[in-house]
Amino acid sequence: MSNKLKDDLRRFLHWGPITLLTLTLIITWTVFHMNSMWWPRGKSLGSIVNYTLIWAHTFGTLYNFIRSLMVGPGFVPLKWHPLDMKDTQFLQFCTRCNGYKAPRSHHCRRCDRCVMKMDHHCPWINTCVGWSNQDSFVYFLLCFLSASIQGAIIIVGAVMQGIQKRWLIRQGLRHMANVHLTPTNLLASVFSLGLIMGTALASVKLLYMQAKVIFKNQTGIESWIVRKALFRRNAYPGNRIRAFVFPYNLGWKANLCEVFLNPGDGISWPVLPGCNEYSLTCEQLEQKKDKRARTRLFRCIRPATGHWVPIFSQGLWVSMQIPCTDDPRIELKPDDIIHVTRIQEYWNYGERVISQKVEKNRRKGAIRGWFPSCCAVEIREDSGIEDELAGGEPVRRQDPPAKESLETDQEKPDKETSSKLEILGNFPCNDVKHRKSQLVK
Ligand SMILES: [Zn+2]
Ligand SMILES: [Zn+2]
Repeated sequence: MSNKLKDDLRRFLHWGPITLLTLTLIITWTVFHMNSMWWPRGKSLGSIVNYTLIWAHTFGTLYNFIRSLMVGPGFVPLKWHPLDMKDTQFLQFCTRCNGYKAPRSHHCRRCDRCVMKMDHHCPWINTCVGWSNQDSFVYFLLCFLSASIQGAIIIVGAVMQGIQKRWLIRQGLRHMANVHLTPTNLLASVFSLGLIMGTALASVKLLYMQAKVIFKNQTGIESWIVRKALFRRNAYPGNRIRAFVFPYNLGWKANLCEVFLNPGDGISWPVLPGCNEYSLTCEQLEQKKDKRARTRLFRCIRPATGHWVPIFSQGLWVSMQIPCTDDPRIELKPDDIIHVTRIQEYWNYGERVISQKVEKNRRKGAIRGWFPSCCAVEIREDSGIEDELAGGEPVRRQDPPAKESLETDQEKPDKETSSKLEILGNFPCNDVKHRKSQLVK
C-alpha cells in the first residue's frame, strides 16, 4: 500500500469524518425514504427534477467532502528553503519540518506539517483548510447547506402529509395521501430534522467565516497577525514603526480568482504595490522578537496537574477562574522552568522549557499552555538559569506534536487576548495579591 493511500485512510479513520459521514447517511436515507412516499419518482416532471436535485446534492456534498479531505491543504515540502538563501533572513524556521516556513504557511500541530496558506485545522475533514483544498471546502459547505434546505422541505412536507392523511382521504384527495407515518418514520424524521437544523446553522457560520477569509484574502491566523501588528503600532505611538499594510488583499475580484481560478503554487503570492513577498513574514519576525523581549522566566514551586478544572489540587476558587479558551493546560513539576508570556491573576500562560539536563524522558502532553499562577514564581534574570539552560538543549520554540497542544504554532487568539491583548511588560504582576511575590535567588 502506498504511503499516500495510507495517509488518506488514516485521515478517514478519525471521529470527525466518520461522524459526519454517518450523520449524512442517516439524513440521506430519511430524505429518500420520505420523498419516495411524498413525491414518488416519475409521476411528473417536477418529481424528476426533485429526484435529480437530491442526487446532485448528495453527490456534490460527498464528492467535495472527500476531495477536501484527500487533496489536503498543501504541505510545504520538508526541509524547504527559498531559492535565494539570502532570503532566509526574512523567514521563520520550523524545527519540526526542518525547513523554512514559506510566506503564509504555518505549522499545524495536528497535521505535524507546515501548511500552505493555513486557515484552520478542521476536525470534520481531519486535516487543515489551506491553499489547495479551500475551494472544495467551500463547495462542500455550499452543497451541504443547499442539501439541508431541500432535505428539510421534503421531511416537513412528508410529515405534514402523513399527519393529514385521514383528512385528505375525507376530502377525496386519496392520491395525495401516500405517506404512512409509522413510529420508525416519525422518529427518523424528527431526528434527521434536528440534525439538519444543527448542521445547517453550523455550515452557515462556517460559510460566513470562509466568505470573510476569501473576500479579504486574509486567513484567520493572518487576521490575528494583523491585529497584533496594529496593536504594536497603536500601543506605542512613540515607536516609529512603519505602518503595516496587509500585502495580499488585492480587491475582492482578484481575491476570488486566487481561490477558485488561479491558486498559484502555494509558495509565492501576488502582493500589493509597495509591499514585497516578505512583508508579512518580516512583521511576524518582529512580533516574535517583541514577544521574546517581554517573556519572563518562572520556576515551578509546586506541581500543576495539567487538569482543566484542578479542583482537588488548587481548590474551588482557582478552578472557577479558569481561562475561557481551549488552549492546553500544562503539567508542571517542581523546578520546571517556564517562559511566561501572559500573566493573569490566577492563571499564567507559558512554555515549559525542555532541558536535557533536567529531563531525559520527554513528558507527555503539551508544553505550552496555562497553569495555575500559584504553582510558579518569577526568577530574576541574573539568576544564571539561562546559562544553565543554554548548556543543555537550546530553548525550544516549537512544540512536540502533542495531541492536546494547539493546532498551530501561531499563538492563537482567544476571547481574553482578543479583547485585552495583554502585554506582559505592562502587567502589574507585583500587585497581584494571590501570587507569591518572593523571588527565587
Ligand atoms: Zn513545520
Ligand atoms: Zn492541520
